[in-house]
Amino acid sequence: MGKRISLLGATGSIGLQTLDIIREHPNKFQLVAFSVGKNIEETRKILNEFHVEVVSVQKEEDALLLQQEYPKIEVVFGDAGLIQVAAHTNADVLVNAVLGSVGLRPTLEAIKKGITIAIANKETLVTAGHLVMQAAQQYNVPILPVDSEHSALFQAMNGEKKSEVSKLIITASGGSFRDRTREELKSVTVKEALNHPNWSMGSKITIDSATMMNKGLEVIEAHVLFDISYDDIEVLLHRESIIHSMIEFKDTSVIAQLGTPDMRVPIQYALSYPDRLERSNAHRLNLAEIGKLHFQEMDYKRYHALKLAIDAGRAGGTMTTVLNAANEAAVSLFLKEKITFLEIDELIERAMDEHSNVSSPDLDTILFVDSQTRKSVQNMVK
Ligand code: NDP
Ligand code: MG
Repeated sequence: MGKRISLLGATGSIGLQTLDIIREHPNKFQLVAFSVGKNIEETRKILNEFHVEVVSVQKEEDALLLQQEYPKIEVVFGDAGLIQVAAHTNADVLVNAVLGSVGLRPTLEAIKKGITIAIANKETLVTAGHLVMQAAQQYNVPILPVDSEHSALFQAMNGEKKSEVSKLIITASGGSFRDRTREELKSVTVKEALNHPNWSMGSKITIDSATMMNKGLEVIEAHVLFDISYDDIEVLLHRESIIHSMIEFKDTSVIAQLGTPDMRVPIQYALSYPDRLERSNAHRLNLAEIGKLHFQEMDYKRYHALKLAIDAGRAGGTMTTVLNAANEAAVSLFLKEKITFLEIDELIERAMDEHSNVSSPDLDTILFVDSQTRKSVQNMVK
């Protein structure tokens, strides 16, 4: 039988790689429910291969169509559908690989059902990390990181006490434009931005990597997951993406986690935890072949988005909700070629400047601020 898994965002980059892991270990994992957005062609393929009980799609008309084609499966849709998949009563683990803060409510509902959360969906932790961690504590539910840096930190932390950590060191590849100056970023195209040197990922996170907002979201994610102060989280440029992150302890020992850049490794670890499983067809790390690893201090002027994120994190309250929602809206405008690359940072900064921060916000406040911020970013462009 194995662990029963529900999966949000099955048609995405992380979602499809999660399906690879489930496929590789049929005795260990079983997919019981999944959600998609609009990719119905891929949904049919998944439905034909895996015998699930529930599937959720974004649009009602797609749900009606699929329900006719697959009468034995329960087909649901929209935001309520995401919740139904996430909180599927039959699941042991939810892999949350949906894109954006739309993943927040489903995550909270799954926690209330006692379902372990394997979280790739970092926007959820950035927009309302305190709500997720409070609920996890209340319902005694583990939150297991899928993001490679946080999986590395989680592994380095294994068996160590938080009080013995002196700092978290999060590595950053530098993204598609790491060899360009800020001046040279003025006229970059969407196509150039989508060309990441080390990782193959969905388009939103690839743009986030180019602006360095991805690392900013990850600093907040690390603060939320490991409860370490922003003063003790460092970002280090590391071109090769071989060291996925490290922890320095108070005796100056540093523990790092290494591997080839392949998201299936942290996905599998979150699913198999606390055990480790073989990875067939895995690409092993060969350090002799790689020869050298490079490290460089982070330049916060060059990567302004990282500074904005850390400022938002330190401010706390609804400021990280604004940061995230403004970033989601701005990246979507950039992908539609409505704004330039550098305008992404400008719109986020404006949204943060115009916001009056609310401390310890509840869920309704977060959802309200999220939707207001998206609207105001749209209006800035009109
Ligand atoms: P993708 O864009 O590849 O996939 C996103 C998934 O979410 C797709 O299944 C998409 O459906 C679905 N989706 C998007 N919007 C909605 C919506 N409004 N309602 C319902 N479903 C929706 O993203 P990634 O897989 O790259 O990233 C997913 C998450 O994982 C992000 O939070 C990202 O930051 C994080 N992450 C990703 C990594 C990577 O390597 N890709 C690494 C670490 C973290 P459809 O395509 O059918 O429309
Ligand atoms: Mg990452």
